[in-house]
Amino acid sequence: MHSEQDGAKIRTLGSSRDESGTPDESNDSTDVQDPTTGRYARAAQKYAEFVNPHVADLLERLRMDKCYVRGEGHLLVDAEGNHILDAVSGYGAVPFGHNCDWVWGAVRDFERSREPAIVQPSLLPGAGELAEVLLRHAPPGLRHVAFGNSGTEAVEAAIKACRVATRRLGIISTEGGFHGKTLGALSATGRDFFQTGSGAPVAGFRRVHYGDVDALAQVLRECAASTAAFIVEPIQGEGGVIEPPTDYLKAVRALCDKHDVLLIVDEVQTGLGRTGALFACLTEGITPDALTLSKALGGGLVPVSACLLSPKAYTKDFAFKHSSTFAGNGLAMRVGLRVVERLVSDREAVLENVVRQGAYLKRGLLEVQREYGSVIRDVRGRGLMLGVELEADRPSIQRGLGALLPMLGEGLALFAASYLLDVGRVRVAPTLNGTSVLRVQPPLTVTRDECDWILRAFDDLASVMASGRSDRFVRHLLPPAEPIIRSSGFYPVRKPRVPAGTSPLAEREEPPDLPCGDGEEGRFAFIVHMLDGKSLSEYDRSLEGIAPSDLQDIAERFSDSAHPFVASRVRIQSLAGHAATGDFIILPKTTRQLLRLSPEDALEEVAEAVRLGIKGGAKIVGLGGYTSVVTQNLKALLKLGVPLTSGNSYTVVSAIDAALEASKIAGRPLGAARAVIVGGGGSIGSALASLLAERVPSLVLVGRDGDSTAVRSRYAVIVARMIRHAARRRRSGAELPKGSLGHALGHLPVATELLQRDGRLLLSDADQRLVLSQVSNVQLRWTTDLTSVLAQANLVILATSSPDELVKPEMVQPGTVICDLSRPANVSDALLRRQDVIVIDGGIVEVPRRPDLGFHFGLGHGLAYACMAETMMLALETRYEHTSLGRDLQESTLDMFAALAEKHGFRLAELRARQRPLQISATRRGSLAQRMRRGLRLAAR
Ligand code: PLP
Repeated sequence: MHSEQDGAKIRTLGSSRDESGTPDESNDSTDVQDPTTGRYARAAQKYAEFVNPHVADLLERLRMDKCYVRGEGHLLVDAEGNHILDAVSGYGAVPFGHNCDWVWGAVRDFERSREPAIVQPSLLPGAGELAEVLLRHAPPGLRHVAFGNSGTEAVEAAIKACRVATRRLGIISTEGGFHGKTLGALSATGRDFFQTGSGAPVAGFRRVHYGDVDALAQVLRECAASTAAFIVEPIQGEGGVIEPPTDYLKAVRALCDKHDVLLIVDEVQTGLGRTGALFACLTEGITPDALTLSKALGGGLVPVSACLLSPKAYTKDFAFKHSSTFAGNGLAMRVGLRVVERLVSDREAVLENVVRQGAYLKRGLLEVQREYGSVIRDVRGRGLMLGVELEADRPSIQRGLGALLPMLGEGLALFAASYLLDVGRVRVAPTLNGTSVLRVQPPLTVTRDECDWILRAFDDLASVMASGRSDRFVRHLLPPAEPIIRSSGFYPVRKPRVPAGTSPLAEREEPPDLPCGDGEEGRFAFIVHMLDGKSLSEYDRSLEGIAPSDLQDIAERFSDSAHPFVASRVRIQSLAGHAATGDFIILPKTTRQLLRLSPEDALEEVAEAVRLGIKGGAKIVGLGGYTSVVTQNLKALLKLGVPLTSGNSYTVVSAIDAALEASKIAGRPLGAARAVIVGGGGSIGSALASLLAERVPSLVLVGRDGDSTAVRSRYAVIVARMIRHAARRRRSGAELPKGSLGHALGHLPVATELLQRDGRLLLSDADQRLVLSQVSNVQLRWTTDLTSVLAQANLVILATSSPDELVKPEMVQPGTVICDLSRPANVSDALLRRQDVIVIDGGIVEVPRRPDLGFHFGLGHGLAYACMAETMMLALETRYEHTSLGRDLQESTLDMFAALAEKHGFRLAELRARQRPLQISATRRGSLAQRMRRGLRLAAR
């Protein structure tokens, strides 16, 4: 859209000084060497420590923690000497750029005049003159001015004046509106987030939808008699730069008149030129009863505000009861006078510039939107009060790219602002209530070249976002692996776009849809979260080149703002002719971030994700990873009223398959294994114990907790279930192999009695003693001593909820087979490098017909974790009931999933280690088998 010539023009900008005082950038280095820089750095640290550590922390995470050491016209200079175009302009309070010379001139003139600055109460000459000038230019009919020092104070004055004049308390405001943060103005501010905790809204406040005349009419019909005023912005600024329908203010004025209610028009942001008019409400030809002004009035230098009042709103009572020490102070008044003079001088040349540059800028932004509509949802606003609404690009996410963007949630606009600041050298900020909107609000005197600068920065931002290359979107936040190329002029060299069709992910052809048979098509949702920072690259393949520690760093930067979102919708078609559609919902928190949350917050995060699933039509919701740990094995979610599954049953079934397969590769049958289950007390571990006992001669269960009554009785229950399981097999005629632990358990004297018990095994103390005394003679043991157990083991299955590395290389014997079901993994990276052991991930299966699941979860196309597959199978069967909940999985459920997998075509995937296919060469197989044999001999000695 903008030619390279434009770029050249912009890049040479730095060598000249324009009207706004834009400086020559060639003296950058002097800033860096300036001895005052160190002083600024120390002062910035003090801000972070004493003023607002929380905002400082947020800024630091976004690399926006800049300390600006000079403000020169439209540019800011940071401590490193970078020149940044300021398109925030102090939220509109810097109308003519920073340190504007003629504004300082007003200060110097005031000093020379020797007029006293603060002499309340007296007849303040500056206040008189400024009031007269403001009223002269304001909509006709306003008669008095109450001065103050900030926008919120002007709003307080308006609210009080209207309440006093009408002797009514009611104030109607608008959803999403913003009027300030003191208690009265905050009560009128339309976003709960800013209100909660401070007692706002105070009595008498209610809201209606912005731009909705009927809604206001309805409320006024109901409660005009108790309503003092309706407060409204001509354009909602902090609400996300939202323009109301044409003639909205006119209709609102008529309604207020009809119901004898006063009208407050808040022009703190729109007023004094921002929209291209001196007052935005003049455009609709109405006069409010109170009109608030601030921001631009101070010329970027002094805090000042004004509340212009009609005779109806101004009363003696208000006049005597409202004041402020600094209101009307001489210095602020003289600056305010100079500002208004400037705005109306030279046939309103400044306003004309706003209209001209504003239209140019908006046109350019709309062009960017047209080109990158997938990431820019809207461009709005009037004059130089513009807003760019962002959104995440879903189609590219489906290709496994750009998934980071929707994960950023409300933080997306903040990250975009960070990118624009660091890469584009343009300072923008999200609006306060409309958090996905970036305000574009340069000074009223912005030049055409500067508008181009802004447009190029947005063009670059949008192209990076739309390309799905999240790595480029966040690279600037990390220590530079490849230096970001900057031009010697103001604008950084444009990075090449990813040409269409060169996506790092080759498109795969989807299998054709099969009809669903006669049955109802199932609906499910599955909730996943990030195991650690590295998982980011599993969701978003463009991040694969970023080091895991840097990915962790990125995950930390957005953890606060991120919320669950639907990442993909998939249709599963089973070999039995059934079909089910489901949403994968990502909860963008790592395991450690989830564990860091308070139990209530963690539960709420998961509940939010489940609700999203329900909203999408899910009739069964599966929960992966730590979502079950922080929800008491899902029990805390039962109140949400949707059937749930942890997916643990099929995880157990597939883990046994994986252990069998790995043992085959290792050349040693399970019948020769000295097996260990780490996490033997958990839901997966304890169920595995029963199944594994069918094949191995000995088994040690490793638990986390030491010897206590509770642990002993848990162990007794697990053992009793193992005995009962073995006895059932025996009774059904499937006698377990002689020499297997299960065979021994099935023949214990207590087996017959346990077999007769139905349902849960509730053991009395005496039963427990009996069970435990009988198993003391078989090869089954319980311990917490992982190290000494591993020294003897040659088959280890891990199924814990510990996020730590529990198994290190030196703990394991040569020839050991390790199946790590835990997520995050419990096996250290170093162990994977050992050539004399086999480490595999457990619980990974092939989905029938290997469909594209939207994400590869680090696994590969058409592969899923067994817990996901369990959810899919329940949906394929339209079997909507709670499944695999709690600590004790039902044997019948395990058998059911073994059968369902067979029926629908789910099967164990090729063995994988750290999510990559297991590579074992023939030579390694040979030497492994040798080591296995040696390991056996050593153990036999
Ligand atoms: N009213 C409107 C419309 C505003 O946009 C703002 C601030 O952004 C205020 C009131 C509050 O102004 P201040 O921050 O100076 O208190």
